[in-house]
Amino acid sequence: MSRRALSVPARSPSSEPARASESLTALAERLQLPVARSSDGRLTVEVVTPLPTDRGTFDVRLFRFADLPGDHLALSVGDLSGDAPLLVRIHSECMTGEVLASQRCECAQQLAFALREIQAEGRGMVIYLRQEGRGIGLLNKLRAYSLQAQGADTVDANRLLGLPDDTRSYDAAASLLKLLGVSQVRLMTNNPAKTQALTDLGITVTDRLGVLVASNPLAARYLKTKRDRMSHDVPAVLQLVGGTGSGR
Ligand SMILES: [Zn+2]
Repeated sequence: MSRRALSVPARSPSSEPARASESLTALAERLQLPVARSSDGRLTVEVVTPLPTDRGTFDVRLFRFADLPGDHLALSVGDLSGDAPLLVRIHSECMTGEVLASQRCECAQQLAFALREIQAEGRGMVIYLRQEGRGIGLLNKLRAYSLQAQGADTVDANRLLGLPDDTRSYDAAASLLKLLGVSQVRLMTNNPAKTQALTDLGITVTDRLGVLVASNPLAARYLKTKRDRMSHDVPAVLQLVGGTGSGR
């Protein structure tokens, strides 16, 4: 086979593709500009696009926030305007759970639950913040896992590494909600502190909805620690731990 066979045919494009190309060029130029920016300049929505997934189609926004490095995402369904409180989950990245299917936590299942719920309701938003390991980062999270493999629980592991229990911040999420005109939410979380944090940031939480997901013996221990030492609601833990005897 000659090399020529692999080259692009040198035929002149028809007028129709040429017009499409011009409009796409204009769109590409517009896409390089921010979609929206908060009045204090701390938050910028860089792009919004529909994304079809196995769980339905979401409007995906990529945004950046001054105090939280990285590209963050918001996946929404339906019309976000209006007075009815918006169904919202603020979810922090968990590469080990969501990409590697780690059995140490239930993050992937919680994310799936929230995405399913907003699709079922036809209106809602999951705000996905890149604060891995409750904010300590992937390296420290894996160091903590190493200590947990030696018997420490998640809180003690962080303390042995000189790290706080939870360094997550919800400023970015509150700022995004305000920018989108959302002032009232029904929050999907098992963590009362998250509700309080959002309230303190000026977002009214009209309801707190539990995130109930199936777990496994390894995650059950982590959930039990979150319940006993971090004030999370974990209704399923007692059955899991009591039933399997694996919650040591
Ligand atoms: Zn996780």
